[in-house]
Amino acid sequence: MRSKRLLFPLGLRKALIACGLALWLAACGLNLISQDSEIELGKQISKEVESQMKVLADAEVTEYVDSIGQKLAKVSRRPDLAYHIKVIDTEEVNAFALPGGYLYVNRGLIETASNESELAGVMGHEIAHITERHSTKQYTQAQLYQIAATIGAAVTGAGQVGQQAAGLGGALLFRKFSRMDEAEADKYGLQYIARAGYDPRGMETFFRKLLKLQEGKPSTLQALFSTHPPTEERIQAIQAEVGKLDPKSLKSAILSSSRFDRIKTKLRVKAQMRSRD
Ligand SMILES: [Zn+2]
Repeated sequence: MRSKRLLFPLGLRKALIACGLALWLAACGLNLISQDSEIELGKQISKEVESQMKVLADAEVTEYVDSIGQKLAKVSRRPDLAYHIKVIDTEEVNAFALPGGYLYVNRGLIETASNESELAGVMGHEIAHITERHSTKQYTQAQLYQIAATIGAAVTGAGQVGQQAAGLGGALLFRKFSRMDEAEADKYGLQYIARAGYDPRGMETFFRKLLKLQEGKPSTLQALFSTHPPTEERIQAIQAEVGKLDPKSLKSAILSSSRFDRIKTKLRVKAQMRSRD
């Protein structure tokens, strides 16, 4: 009788183990990128971003947004990282983080926020993506899936299918964070804004506002937080986290500032001037 061992020669078994190991490491959220490489990667992508998107040339607005970000970064889980924060001159409501401390806030986000704590809420979320190294974790995952797919293709002879799967791993890179990453960014982001003295309910009210905008005008707001859309489930999780905070600290929390009002007025005047042109 032929034993099972003969059906799986040693080379094939090793390959399958390697394939399984790569998939398991990917599922565990392993991060193989060093901090130096992460910063270098962020720097390279930021150059790409700034060659394709218009950075707002307004020192006052940039300095204001940067001051909120630096305040949050100081109380974050990676306070020693250098954070580079800029405003993108577009009305699309969005913000995004790159690996290694690069963070971009769209002008439309400031224009849509009703108070400083709402703006800080979104920025806290983005800073949490940086502190939890979600992008490089995703990068590692994509590479491990690629390894698994390549091994899989070699041992099964499914060359093309394997190659397609490998390509898919690469294509997923930086496209979308997982729901788990989003929940983690909400959780830590909320902690950062609360520690910085902001009213953490700002995150909740802003996400609710986004959800309404998304439901009302889905076609015009397609780009709206497309990489991490707000959902009712996320809002409820944020509410639950806020409920765990000391009610006394909520009473003294900062909701907004006169500086926020001044920046909003400035952007409103600029928008009126643009519409007259
Ligand atoms: Zn996110």
